[in-house]
This record gives sequence, C-alpha cells and structure tokens, in this order.
Amino acid sequence: MKPKLILHGGAGSRKGTQIGKAFIKNIYLQAEAYLKAHSALETVIYAVSLLEDCEYFNAGTGSKLQQDGKARMSASVMDGRLQKFAAVINIENVKNPVQVARLLLEEKDHVLCGNFATHYARKKGFDFYDPVTLRQQKIWRKKFNVSVYGTVGAVALDANGNLAVATSTGGRGHELPGRVSDSAMPCGNYANADAAVSCTGIGEQIIHESLASKIVIRVTDGASLKQAFQKSFKTVRDKKYEIGAIGISKKGDIVCDTTTTHLSAAYRSSKQKLLIQ
Ligand code: ASP
Repeated sequence: MKPKLILHGGAGSRKGTQIGKAFIKNIYLQAEAYLKAHSALETVIYAVSLLEDCEYFNAGTGSKLQQDGKARMSASVMDGRLQKFAAVINIENVKNPVQVARLLLEEKDHVLCGNFATHYARKKGFDFYDPVTLRQQKIWRKKFNVSVYGTVGAVALDANGNLAVATSTGGRGHELPGRVSDSAMPCGNYANADAAVSCTGIGEQIIHESLASKIVIRVTDGASLKQAFQKSFKTVRDKKYEIGAIGISKKGDIVCDTTTTHLSAAYRSSKQKLLIQ
C-alpha cells in the first residue's frame, strides 16, 4: 500500500496567501517524509503538532481567543484501525493539545475537558506554555473575525493500510467561554478502517450535519469517498453552511471540498503532483 497524506489549515472567507501556502507546503513535505517510516497515527500527530506550532494557524500557538480573551484549545485524534477516538476540550496553556489527546487514546477515559484536561496534561509532563500571540490579541480587541487560515487537520493512510485522523483548533473566536468545538467531536474528526475525515468551518454547522462521521459511514456502506463527499456536501450547500473537509479512503482515494472561498490544504494528486491550495 502506498502511503497517502492530506493536511488542511482551515476554511476561510478570503483567498489564500503565498505565505500560508508556503507554511502548509513545508509542513506537508516534513510529514510526508515522516510517514515513510511511521504509522498513520504517529504521522497525523506529528503533522498536527507542526501545524499547532506554526502561529499562522488557529491551533496551539496562535489560537483564537474566546469572549473573555482566553485561549482554550480543543483537539482530537482517531485511530481508524481500532476505531477509537480521544479528545481534549478547552484545554489551556499547553503547547500541543493534539499530543494530550493522543495520550488519552491509551486511557480508560478518552475525552477530558477544561481544567481537568489541563491538569491531566500537567500530570503527564506537559509544561505551562502560553499559546496567545500578539496578532490574536489584536484580532480579539478589534473583534475582527474574517479569517484566511484556521483550524488544522491531518489524514493519513500508512503502508499497512491503516487510517488515522487528527484535528486541532483554537475555536471560532469570540465564542462564549467554554463553547465546545466540533474539532474535538466525532462530527469534526472521524475514522474507521474504511475512511478518515477532518472538518473545518463553522463548528455548530458541522455538529448539526455530523459531517465527518457521516462521510465515513457512507463509505463503509458502499459509497466511494468521492460519492460520500458529494452527497454530504450537497446538503451542506443547500443549507448555505460554511464548511470544508478533507478525507482519505482505504483504497487511497483523496478528496477535499469546501463551501467557503478558500480551503487551505496540501496533498498529492493521483499522478503524484503536489497540490497546495
Ligand atoms: N471548526 C472550528 C470551530 O468551530 C473552527 C474552524 O474550523 O476554523 O471551532
């Protein structure tokens, strides 16, 4: 099986920029090389950690701020082989929320929220880290919320045919403190042995559609990944929702779609051409 990888850096209401494309391209190339010697699960954690560390994206460092000016981050991971999901919701002051979610995959309790998630991270050795950037503070002060780049996600299929997905976000920005993002729910991040999907866009709409899990189950029920995306996005378009998604099937098909002006993404075409948008 030839390994496959697709990353996204959020769905936005503005056209992509050269610098944004350069960041996602660079991270894609590192993650693609990593996938050659690692599992899909290890690779999505690696790729999302790099995206979280890049302050251009709304996840980890550079996360958007909630109404009270605080960064509360959410991230999830799903191992398609085991069909197991884990997440942290509204975690604070850690560098890589996705790595905390990864640890929870090994626990009996798979989803932790708020202070409890932060406390768990400290217990596991994650040091205090302030993810708030000056740029996001400025955006928060101006209540300016038109974004090009946003939430991040990675989907991978490894040489053994296993799928995995991870998604991480700082949220919508200016939301009520404690609001729960789709990025830490199976509607925004879902995988089984047949397909894996990561979503971005308006979290509430992704939740209403249960989009990631819906696309994956359609593949399990016999649709191709392309058909599953087309059918699911028809409803998204009919409702004028603002959502983007990326996915890979166990056959190695890669699909991405968005109803927004732009979806930041990096992947290879079936002819191995590197596509950056
Ligand atoms: N889906 C994220 C949320 O609503 C935001 C995004 O994808 O940019 O929390």
